[in-house]
Amino acid sequence: MIISAQKQLEEILRLINNDPVFLIGCSECATMCKTGGEEEILIMKKILEQKEITVTGYVILDPACNLQKSKIQFKNVKENLNKAKKLVVFSCGNGVQTVSEIFENLEVISGTNTLFLGEIKHANEFEKNCIMCGECIQEIFNGFCPVSRCPKHMLNGPCGGSRDGKCEVSSNLDCIWNTIYLSYKKKGQLNKFKQILAPKDWSKSLEFKRVI
Ligand code: SF4
Ligand code: SF4
Repeated sequence: MIISAQKQLEEILRLINNDPVFLIGCSECATMCKTGGEEEILIMKKILEQKEITVTGYVILDPACNLQKSKIQFKNVKENLNKAKKLVVFSCGNGVQTVSEIFENLEVISGTNTLFLGEIKHANEFEKNCIMCGECIQEIFNGFCPVSRCPKHMLNGPCGGSRDGKCEVSSNLDCIWNTIYLSYKKKGQLNKFKQILAPKDWSKSLEFKRVI
């Protein structure tokens, strides 16, 4: 799932600059992250109206990253959309750009920051597990990913700063190299650590379009 966080209200208000707005949410990831589901959109609508900002309407796209479906949904709210000067989108960055593609004449504001591709650990807790590098090499690490889960992207062992299994960058974070070590140890496969990897080929992350 794509994990996002709502921008600070002050920033959203600064971007809106008292203009009439139409609010756009997303039925999938942003709903799960509680950044752009119907509940959050209605709360934002109320907050903006209390600040005397005109909210001409809202829609929850299903989902915001689907260009053709979004176009159909927008047709149903055309009248309210036309009264707005700005569209505030509460989805991942992909959804924001889908909206921008559809509305050439309206200013589009992103109400969220898109953070990472993550696992849903609990209803309110997400963990970064992938940065979509374009060449998945998790099999080398027993199914764990230091590319995304080590802040230093260490590929050939830990940086040396880990203490008690925690990452030196953040004590909230398990050192992924500790996790990899323990998982290989459990399987009696510590010899796998002898393999030295060449630097990652980041050109694989440069695919911009795929047609299937
Ligand atoms: S190796 Fe790349 S594609 Fe695989 S999980 Fe890690 S970041 Fe994602
Ligand atoms: S402590 Fe572990 S996870 Fe943190 S930067 Fe070092 S190797 Fe990476």
